Amino acid sequence: MPLIIHTIPAFQDNYLWLFHQAGEREAFVVDPGDAQPVLEYLEKYDLDLAGILITHHHPDHTGGIKTLLSHYNAPVYGPDSPNIPQISQRLYEGDSITLAGTTFSVLEIPGHTLDHIAYKASPEGQSPLVFCGDTLFTAGCGRIFEGTAKQMYQSLQKLAALPDMTQIYCAHEYTLSNLAFAAAVEPNNLALQDKTTDDENKRQQGLPTVPSTLGIERETNPFLRCHLPSLALAASQHSSSQLSDPIDVMREIRLWKDSF
Ligand code: ZN
Ligand code: FE
Repeated sequence: MPLIIHTIPAFQDNYLWLFHQAGEREAFVVDPGDAQPVLEYLEKYDLDLAGILITHHHPDHTGGIKTLLSHYNAPVYGPDSPNIPQISQRLYEGDSITLAGTTFSVLEIPGHTLDHIAYKASPEGQSPLVFCGDTLFTAGCGRIFEGTAKQMYQSLQKLAALPDMTQIYCAHEYTLSNLAFAAAVEPNNLALQDKTTDDENKRQQGLPTVPSTLGIERETNPFLRCHLPSLALAASQHSSSQLSDPIDVMREIRLWKDSF
């Protein structure tokens, strides 16, 4: 049975992901920052909450856990983080869990926070996918709050090693502002211009731009392109120094974005 993934918008620009197997009522939610839209969704579609998956400790990803657990007796999967006491099954790099008939494996991807993990899966007969929280966004990456630029670079490389067809289920709709920044970094990137047109159309129709695919991100996301000469040149010009190491390039592009 195919895996079905629903998009639940929350707050200003968060996406909560709810998945279940077609025809089954057992549903799983990723990063429920708010319980209310999840409870409404479960009721509307006659689903039961069978588990909660957490990528990292920020409140916009964890704030709804307590209320959800007051309605449903469900396990909470997540990183080994002192900041998330409700986690009942702590997960580490290489661990796997089978939910909704699908095996998810865990990637540790520190940088945005030190506890950040991602869940990747290859459902039979469907595109591979990853729930990557606030690490890799469509056309961008998360701010480096707790880790180092090197950690963030390595975490993005880990995600970049997934197959091109991988659907990137990130946790925020930041795409248009990310694309505007990406165009400032790479004004001559034609794939970026095409993606901007497509995504502006989607947003005008009120549609999410997420998920993207890794193949498209590789062509358009500056944070996955730090090994390329065009990115090294842009970062060097911005910093007024000669940068060539991809980690230094990524650090500079991230600083640039922070004040863009
Ligand atoms: Zn976050
Ligand atoms: Fe977030």
